Parts: sequence; C-alpha cells; structure tokens
Amino acid sequence: KRTLVSLAVLGICAGPAHGTDAATAAKVRALLQQMTLEEKVGQLNQVVASGLTGPENAQAKNVDKRADIKAGKIGSLLTVKSVAETRELQDLAMQSRLKIPLIFALDVIHGHKNVFPVPLGEAASWDMEAIERSARIAATEAAASGVHWTFAPMVDVARDPRWGRVMEGAGEDAFLGSAIAKARVKGFQGKGIGQLDSVMATAKHFAAYGAAVAGRDYQAVDISPQQLHEVYLPPFRAAVEAGVATFMNSFNTLNGIPATGSAMLQKDILRQKWGFDGIVVSDWQSVAEMVRHGYAADLKDAGARAINAGNTIDMEGYAYSNHLAELVKEGKVGQATLDDAVGHVLAKKFELGLFDDPYRYSDAAREKAVHANPEHRAATRDVARKSMVLLKNEGAVLPLKKDTRRIALIGPLAEARRDLEGAWIVHSDPKSVPSLADGLRKGLAAGSRLTVTAGCDIACKDSKGFAAAVKAAREADVVVMALGESFDHTGEARSYTSITLLGKQDQLFHQVRAAAKAAGKPVVLVVLAGRPLAFADVAEKADAILYAWLPGSEGGNAMADVLFGDYNPSGKLPITIPRSLGQVPIYYSYLNTGRPVPEVEALYGSAYMDSPNTPLYAFGHGLSYTTFKYDNLRLSTSSLAGNGKLTVSFDLQNSGKRAGEEVVQLYLRDPVASIARPVKELKGFRKLRLEPGQRQSVSFEIDRELLSFHNADLKWGAEPGRFDLMIGSASDDIRLKGQFELTD
Ligand code: BGC
Repeated sequence: KRTLVSLAVLGICAGPAHGTDAATAAKVRALLQQMTLEEKVGQLNQVVASGLTGPENAQAKNVDKRADIKAGKIGSLLTVKSVAETRELQDLAMQSRLKIPLIFALDVIHGHKNVFPVPLGEAASWDMEAIERSARIAATEAAASGVHWTFAPMVDVARDPRWGRVMEGAGEDAFLGSAIAKARVKGFQGKGIGQLDSVMATAKHFAAYGAAVAGRDYQAVDISPQQLHEVYLPPFRAAVEAGVATFMNSFNTLNGIPATGSAMLQKDILRQKWGFDGIVVSDWQSVAEMVRHGYAADLKDAGARAINAGNTIDMEGYAYSNHLAELVKEGKVGQATLDDAVGHVLAKKFELGLFDDPYRYSDAAREKAVHANPEHRAATRDVARKSMVLLKNEGAVLPLKKDTRRIALIGPLAEARRDLEGAWIVHSDPKSVPSLADGLRKGLAAGSRLTVTAGCDIACKDSKGFAAAVKAAREADVVVMALGESFDHTGEARSYTSITLLGKQDQLFHQVRAAAKAAGKPVVLVVLAGRPLAFADVAEKADAILYAWLPGSEGGNAMADVLFGDYNPSGKLPITIPRSLGQVPIYYSYLNTGRPVPEVEALYGSAYMDSPNTPLYAFGHGLSYTTFKYDNLRLSTSSLAGNGKLTVSFDLQNSGKRAGEEVVQLYLRDPVASIARPVKELKGFRKLRLEPGQRQSVSFEIDRELLSFHNADLKWGAEPGRFDLMIGSASDDIRLKGQFELTD
C-alpha cells in the first residue's frame, strides 16, 4: 500500500489497472512504460486485412500496412480470412521493436465453417442452450482459423423490419434479447478468453442502432430516455454481466450525439454504471463519420472526441493514426486517457496468451480437424429445426405424409442453396448446402414423387414461368411453395421500403393456389426470409405456413424434418409480423392510448381506418403438431412485500398425440404507475418438452427486481400497487391470468 501511495505522490502511478488480475495489470503497466507515443497510438489503430495492398478507404491510400505493422503502428486487423494470412501478418508484427502481437478480428455472426440459421432465426428457437451451442461451435471453428475476436453478438433490439439488420439480432424484446445476449456471449467466450477454442465476443452496436428513423440504416435515432433504458440498453447490460470482452459503438446519432462520441453511453453508463473493463471498438470509420454528422470539425477533432468519450480503438478510420499523437502533444487528449485506452488493448493481448505465443491460434492442421467435425454440421441441422416457426396449420395439412403420391414444390427458393446461408458468410459453400428440394426428395417414400418448378427467379419480375407452376400444382396431391427473399436482402445497408415477398411472388402464389384449390389440394407455404415479411394476403390463403428464416448449412434437411414431422416445430416469433408496412413499427409491448380500440369502425378511436390494429402474427406465436393445455394457476401469495418473492405455478399438459415442446411465456403489467407502462412485458419463459398426455407443473419466481422500471427521472425501482400477471403460449394467446399486490 505504501509503495502505491508513494508512487502516486511521485506521479508515477499509471492510473487504472487493466486486465482481470494483478499480474496482468503489472505486465500492462510495465509494457506501457517502454512504449513511445507512436507505438501507443498504433495499438488503437485497427485496419482491414483483406486487400492489404488495395485500400478502398481514401484515408488509407498512401498507407503501406505491411510497413506500418513492422513499425508498430497497427494493433489489430479485421477480416482475416485464413490461418496462412494470420501467420504472415503476425510475422510482420514480430519484426516490430517491442514485438507486440496483433489481434485478428472477424465478423463471425452465425457460424464460421458450418453455418447456423441467421441470428433472428436462432432467436425464434427461444432455446438458450441451442443458441449458446451455436456460438460455441462458431467460436471453436473461428479460433481454429486464427481468429481471436468476433464482432458478435449484435444485441440491438429491432422493431422495424425495413431495417435489414433485424436479421442479425434477437428481435423486438428486451427480456428475450437479454437472455439471448448472455447465451451468445457465453457461447463465444466459452471457458474464457485465452482458451484455444474461444474468441472475444463483442456486444454491438452501442447503442440503439436498431431504432434508426424509418428503418433506414445508419439513420439518426431519436428516442426517449425511457425507451433507451427500458428497451435498447438491457441486452447490452446482460452482455456485460455475462463477461463480454469488448463492445462496439455505433454509426448512429442518439438524440443528436453520435454514439461514437457519446461519453454518456461509453463512460457514464458502460464503464461507470456497469463496470465494463474491456475494449470499445468503433464501428467501421464511425469515428471519421462524426464529421459528416456535423459533430466534429474534421478528422482530428473527431479523433479527440472519440477517445475522450471512451472509444478505445479506431476501426479503419485513420483519425487516431493520423492525429492522435499530435492531440496528445497538444494536450487535447490526456496522457492518462491514452494510456487507459492502450492498457485495455494490451490486457486483452496478455489474456489471449499472445505474448507467450503469438501464433498459438493459427494452426492449419487444427483448423482442418476442427472444421471437419461432423458434430458441428449435425448441430446446424438441429438448431435450424428449432428455429422454424409454424405460423398456421389449417386442417392439419402438416406434417406431410411421406407416401404422398406427388408433391409439387414450387417457387424461386425451391432449389436455393446460397440463399439458405444468409449474409455475413466467410466460408460460403453453397454446393454443400441441401436445398429444400433435396431435403424433401430424401424424405419421400419409394414410389412417391417430387416435382420442382421455380415459377420465376427470386426477383420474380416476370410471370413467364407461372403457367408451368400452375400445371405442376394441378397434377399434385399437395403443393409446397418456397417464397421469400434472397440472402442479400437482409444484413447491413439492406433497408427496404417494401417488405413483402419479392417481385410478383404473391401473384405466383395466388395463381398456383387457385389451381390447387380447384383440384381440392392444399397449399403449404414455406417462407425464407431474414426479416418479418408483410404478406397478409398470401398468409390468409395458405393452408399452412412455416417461417423458416434463412436456416444455414443444413437448411433443406431441417425444413424437410419439420415438414414431414420428423421434428415437431417448437419455434416462436421473436418479432411481430405485421399485416402491412403501414403498421410498422408494431410490437406487442406498446403503451395504451387514452382511447378504447373500437371493435368496429368508429370515428376517433385509436385505430387505422383501413386495417385492424393487430399484427398478422404476434410476438411469441408459434404452433406445434401437438396441443398444450394450461390450467391450475397458483400464486404462493397475493401480496409481495420488501424483498420477498412470489412463486407463480401452473400445470402444462400435452393434450395432443405427439411429443412436443412448448415455450411457456410469463407477461406482467403494472396497470397504474408514475409513468405509463406497457400493456404487457415478457418477464419469464421456459421451453419444455412433454410426451403425449404428460402433465408438468411449471413455476416462475417474481421479485421486486422483475417489477422494476426506470421512472420519469430514470430512477430504477418498483412502485407499490396491483400487478397483472399473464401466462400463455404467445403474447396474444394468454391462457391464465392472475393479480397480486406489491405492498411497499
Ligand atoms: C458493421 C459492423 C461490423 C463492421 C466490421 C460495419 O460496417 O456495422 O457490424 O462488425 O462493419 O465488419
């Protein structure tokens, strides 16, 4: 203690400790003392690896990245694609004066070698074990490719399907999103940073990136402090609680301040309130973008604002590499601020074990063995089946009988392979992906036949192929249609003002369906999409609908498993499907208006004149091939005091003929409070598997924390009074209701 005090008095104390233990902190401090100003700045400079010689960024034009690595002017690289590349780059770093190893980052979003369903699809599984497993496998495969750091999970809550990145998140809900954020962080980081089968995870994009005005990517975000704290921040906090190693800030302004330059977000909330102690990386050039936002005068000013607001690394922005040393010399950025940022980066390099062996992740033989693991491939099929949502099944058309004489598979996605993989794929291998046609063909009994007709291509601009599709429908016993959007329609910068089935696919559907109906045959619709599509007219006419998202490497087999009933569907929507774009944004946890919603058209009701208020399919909705009965609601007490707990229990029974899984959902409402509260909010869920006839008691615990919210002064707490409790199979399918009192 005395030493510390005397060092501090002498002004030598290097400021905050970095890393998870004292030993790391000491190593970081020692190394910092040996570094020049330029070398420190280098650690905060991240550039893209691919195309080291062909810069796409104007700032990068005259940069020789190889020379810069040797000079210690680059600390990490993103988008490394192979073990060979990582070794070659690390060789350069080992020629630098202090031999500080490089960190390699990559966007490993939903799988690496083996591709899992897009994250929104995985979220529909409501299965935290499956989601964690998916991230675990992705991490194992990526780490074997020499990757140390993934820019995932994206934990942005998203309620606007125009925004293409809804695909990368966990949907519209803060509670579900928080559980999924934790599962993903745990999956990516496994037993901890430094294990050879784990990667550093990134909670991104901090914050509220998903609330872009009108769903246009990168747009301004203007939301109330309550919305920010109640809806958009919880999954980030959950990621911190799960021990996430890094954060990424975001492109958007939040109530006028660019997130990248926001001290409120990065210092006050993230570091101070939540105690986060890792790296905050900027988004791609988001430091530089503050100039365009009108928040920084020039690149230099942007650099100063970013680091002073708590941004650690400048990704491909060249604000730090060009100006940070000068800013420190001028006193515009404090030495302590710089050292603190560099300390975060060095600590991670120590924790990753890179100072012991900078090449320890980059082993081609290990990569080959890990990538070939058949269990990984099998897991993608399992998670894909769990992610699919049975929206509708009239007349129990599904499951399909394997000895159906003739099935007509129709639609532009019938033979799709690449589209099933979704966006953000590094090791795309469409040839190995079974299409829906492949999956169905394999499942059919001998003597049964599958005919495949596209009708049109995915854009579906013309109807030349419709006649052949209609003919195929007429000759079949069952029609299965595969419609939706291409992999390239969702993801970054894929915002659309129209979110229906692409092109004339709806017309193809209606013509095919008319032919099938005339012949008395049912039509099953499989929707492939990375976002909720508004397809009310089509949905109404289909006999059955399976929402399959973009299901990954084993997509075709997984869809066939569900359609044939080898797997009983168990997915539930993590995001509302609107009837039309005009309803957007639409979500289940809305605030009531002061007006009753009229049953019938009435003037001055809070209703659309041309559409119901209700969505096409609500949050939490999803059917099974069996049915579940809910009864016998019990509350351990009707009044909750202080820090007490209340247990709510009920019985769930599989009332159908097949084994199946149900996601039971607990919703709460605070009907009178100091600030209006949502009509219901998810506060608990569990996924349970029951044999036919099996009955099981299920319980949830309710405590003060679960009833708390941010009041008008942003104070967190619960307010005494009555609470409503709802338990159900979907947000719009409440089966049991109760009430209790919070007394103080
Ligand atoms: C995206 C990030 C991504 C980064 C690096 C950006 O454009 O917004 O999510 O991690 O690029 O690829």
